[in-house]
Amino acid sequence: MPVLRMPDGTTVNLPEGEPVGSALAPSVLAARVDGVLRDLSFVPEHDCSVEPVDVRSDDGLHVLRHSTAHVLAQAVSRLWPGTKLGIGPTITDGFYYDLAIPVHVSVDDLPRIEETMRAIAAEDQPFLREDVSIDEALRRLTEQPFKREIVEGLGTDEAAGDIDVAAQTASFYRNDGWEDLCLGPHVPSTGRLGAFTLTAVSGAYWRGDEKNAQLTRIYGTAWANQADLDAYLERIEQAERRDHRKLGTELDLFSFPEEIGSGLAVFHPRGGLIRMLMEDYSRQRHVEDDYLFVNSPHITKRQLFDVSGHLDWYADGMFPPMELDGGTEYYLKPMNCPYHILIYRSRTRSYRELPMRLFEFGSVYRYEKSGVVHGLTRVRGMTQDDAHIFTTREQMGQELQSLLSFTLSLLRDYGLDDFYLELSTKPEEKSVGADEDWDEATEALRQAALAMNLELVMDPGGGAFYGPKISVQARDAIGRTWQMSTIQLDFQLPQRFDLHYAGADGKRHQPVMIHRALFGSVERFFAVLTEHYAGAFPLWLSPEQLWVLPVADRNAQAAHELAARARAAGLRVAVDDSKQSVGKKIRAAQLIKAPYVIVVGDRDLEAGTFTVRTRSGEEVPGLAFDAIVDALLEESRARSLEQTLVPG
Ligand SMILES: [Zn+2]
Ligand SMILES: [Zn+2]
Repeated sequence: MPVLRMPDGTTVNLPEGEPVGSALAPSVLAARVDGVLRDLSFVPEHDCSVEPVDVRSDDGLHVLRHSTAHVLAQAVSRLWPGTKLGIGPTITDGFYYDLAIPVHVSVDDLPRIEETMRAIAAEDQPFLREDVSIDEALRRLTEQPFKREIVEGLGTDEAAGDIDVAAQTASFYRNDGWEDLCLGPHVPSTGRLGAFTLTAVSGAYWRGDEKNAQLTRIYGTAWANQADLDAYLERIEQAERRDHRKLGTELDLFSFPEEIGSGLAVFHPRGGLIRMLMEDYSRQRHVEDDYLFVNSPHITKRQLFDVSGHLDWYADGMFPPMELDGGTEYYLKPMNCPYHILIYRSRTRSYRELPMRLFEFGSVYRYEKSGVVHGLTRVRGMTQDDAHIFTTREQMGQELQSLLSFTLSLLRDYGLDDFYLELSTKPEEKSVGADEDWDEATEALRQAALAMNLELVMDPGGGAFYGPKISVQARDAIGRTWQMSTIQLDFQLPQRFDLHYAGADGKRHQPVMIHRALFGSVERFFAVLTEHYAGAFPLWLSPEQLWVLPVADRNAQAAHELAARARAAGLRVAVDDSKQSVGKKIRAAQLIKAPYVIVVGDRDLEAGTFTVRTRSGEEVPGLAFDAIVDALLEESRARSLEQTLVPG
């Protein structure tokens, strides 16, 4: 009689031949038996440890989503007999199944497929597992060429994951006479599926190879209950509304012209202005914090990246070289570090000059596969707000602490204020440098992080091979986490480039180097802020701060005069003197997320006072023009994140 050891330390004697599920609560979905995820119908033969899998855990959702994918394929096969099955894995928040369907299936068919899935769920069919020999599996799969290929490629394609390579058997799951080659596990029966919906249809080549058959990929999402599904759909809708790629077009901020190439953005005047405002404020803060401004070219001879080691360990991320001057290879820079190092090394340095903080908005180029390029968050050309700090060992701790508080303070000024920190430590497999160096550096980072009183999450082994790092993770307005700033310690490059300073003791010492980018890249930060604000930037970052709308043609000149007055005072002002009705102009200003709007008509000009319309559509009447200008200037100077001119 097998003895089950439960997580709380208790044991259960399971009668011989009984499934593990009989010892667990009815709400449990599956179980980890000796660490392996199993069906509740799994019959243990020996003593084992058993962890019940709750539906809302990661394991539970995986089992639920995989089971839903199974029922999706079953429903499609029921609707269109002759459907051939590809693979049906789970993905973040959901699942898909790749299918060769005898008819063309589009999103219009999804409700029908869903309905069939619900019917299968209502039938509460138990999932029955069968382990069969490879020969038997191939016999069963005569009508399923893709699954056959998986079985035939036994051991060569682990991604398919449907075969127990070690045991040389294949498992099938059968319900209601329909079966699928599958490693499992599943929920006990189709009645145990949670809340699900199908979300999209696309084409997908078998095994991702365009030489292969094109299959239909149907996507879906599944959750423990309807409330969780609704919350997820709400999050998706919010995220779509905030998608910076969509807002980039609607608000005329940037684009990715086909002619320039994938992942290479151009910023239009409105986006260019926001970008300039972001950068200018960052520059100002860096000046105040004693950074030195440097500048470096976009290309270099290969030797620089040979010495730095980039060509050894980063070549895949670099654009291929170009040959100039009779055979000399030049590379586009993927990182600014080696250039800043050469600036440091341009003359003898003394301990009195340290910490030396070299800052640059440095444009770098990285070869990202076209499949992963994504809006402004994953690009091939970007500008980093990059700095390299050269410091003594003794100063390192203090420097890290002030750097981290500088980082958080800067991010807060841009409106992000919900953070946690992640500390990535030494990768055991591949790393350079002495253990005590790593320990000292990691401890210095940890102390700096603790001083911030923020949640600290450990990322064991996640550091680069040359040093540990801290990254600042920020949650945005809808609770999504973005990795923002990284602060990376480096003992390696000072050694490779043989960097020194003269110490107080008159001897030569090696400085420690800190790499840090606070925005990450300007492009990525631009995307994050656009989504965080849903395009409604605070006044200080808004391209136009005040929109002036003349009611009739005869008011246009007065409108332009007012705008000129406000501009002279320091505001960014736009005038809409198009032939549209004033109602349409107000609507257009709303669509472009104008922070403040005034309408200029005969009566306003006579009275000498105006009504200000805020972004939320509220009106503040009876204000003198200079009072409006002063209020807006004050709000902008204070970098207020809220509108301050509101009905009192
Ligand atoms: Zn399955
Ligand atoms: Zn660097």
